[in-house]
Amino acid sequence: MTNVNCFPVIDADSDNRQQSSYLEEIVPHSFRLHSKERIPKTVSISCPYCGMPLQCLYEGDGNRILSMYRCSKCG
Ligand SMILES: [Zn+2]
Repeated sequence: MTNVNCFPVIDADSDNRQQSSYLEEIVPHSFRLHSKERIPKTVSISCPYCGMPLQCLYEGDGNRILSMYRCSKCG
């Protein structure tokens, strides 16, 4: 079993926790967004470590392709 860190998704704008969404840390400070709904990259998601908005590297389709995020501050 691989050891992966998972974090709840925090919407940086509203400070609300997104239900049914989570971030999987695949390499240090780079995250894959798992969500049942498509989350456009215009939605800013806070870094679980420093709280800064994550940078969207790649916007997925909310279905099979997952969005990729990276923290430019601590990453
Ligand atoms: Zn960070």
